[in-house]
Amino acid sequence: MPTQLIRENQTIVVEDLAVKNMVKNHNPPPSPPGRGARGVGSDANWGELVRQLEYKAEWYGRQLIKIDRYFPSSKRCSNCGHVVEKLPLNIREWDCPECAAHHDRDINASINILAAGGAVSVCGARF
Ligand SMILES: [Zn+2]
Repeated sequence: MPTQLIRENQTIVVEDLAVKNMVKNHNPPPSPPGRGARGVGSDANWGELVRQLEYKAEWYGRQLIKIDRYFPSSKRCSNCGHVVEKLPLNIREWDCPECAAHHDRDINASINILAAGGAVSVCGARF
């Protein structure tokens, strides 16, 4: 799958998850049931996927952007930018208190990650 991802996309944006921190967590969150941007299995597998993507991106001359793991991708409203204080992992859909936009948790996070990746890309081009 990584090769296909790299071939079909000029720029790939991934969330640099804190794999080690998650393992240390005494109360690890359950894996999301959906097949959204994060539906790739365990956190360890995610780290491995990112590693492969990095390697292949270099091979194919593509751009791989890693978003800071503290970026509030899930809690940020992709419509107005409002960041909610808490969004428990069992909440799969939510409404933004600011603009009343209805969000699917994973889709909203994906949009935010992509937007952040675009910002990083634009910034990088300046230097
Ligand atoms: Zn909003």
